[in-house]
Amino acid sequence: MTQITLALTKGRILKETLPLLRRADIVPSEDIASSRKLVFSTNQAHVRLLILRGVDVPTYVQFGAADLGVAGKDTLLEEGGDGYYEPIDLGIAKCRLMTAVSADAQPKKGRIIVATKYINIARQHYAQHGRQAEFIKLYGAMELAPILNLADEIVDIVDTGNTLRANGLVTREHIADVSSRVIVNRAAMKTKFAEIDSILSALRSAMEECQ
Ligand code: AMP
Repeated sequence: MTQITLALTKGRILKETLPLLRRADIVPSEDIASSRKLVFSTNQAHVRLLILRGVDVPTYVQFGAADLGVAGKDTLLEEGGDGYYEPIDLGIAKCRLMTAVSADAQPKKGRIIVATKYINIARQHYAQHGRQAEFIKLYGAMELAPILNLADEIVDIVDTGNTLRANGLVTREHIADVSSRVIVNRAAMKTKFAEIDSILSALRSAMEECQ
């Protein structure tokens, strides 16, 4: 059977993806959490899993190094790649992309400074709202930026809002709802249709079972 490579996003998304894969009868041959490996075989001899950082998943799928991937919509919006389809919203790892400010921030006229790891999403959002902004790229702990006056606002993902509250920030504008999506390399969708279609069907059935 034709080999199928499925790229998964490590961390929170992986934790929520593995039970779905199991219900779709794709089970890693060893425990991913307790291994440092990056490639795992599965109970299905023709299916292997790659464990990647989220930002790398669309790249692997776009260039065909992986046939399918699971990535957060935030990553897909930010990376804006083509070369793949997005056939399934798995409805897992849900959160929201929001802007946030210090709870005691005074409204600021003119150009503001926005800290975020989502530079492209943020640029588009502020442009759409006709607000002039400069952007600072951060890779983590965005909440610190307004506290230390590095930025006026941040753009980040919010789930419960606990992290923002704990750091004296409040949400302001909702940018997008986020959940994890299955993406498929466009060429592979044609050349490996039977194998990929069977995985997509199994995932859809697994999702229905959960509802
Ligand atoms: P919370 O305090 O529940 O609002 O979660 C805040 C932090 O958890 C965010 O800044 C993210 O770093 C992380 N987080 C929340 N939801 C997700 C998700 N669906 N995927 C990845 N990271 C998330």
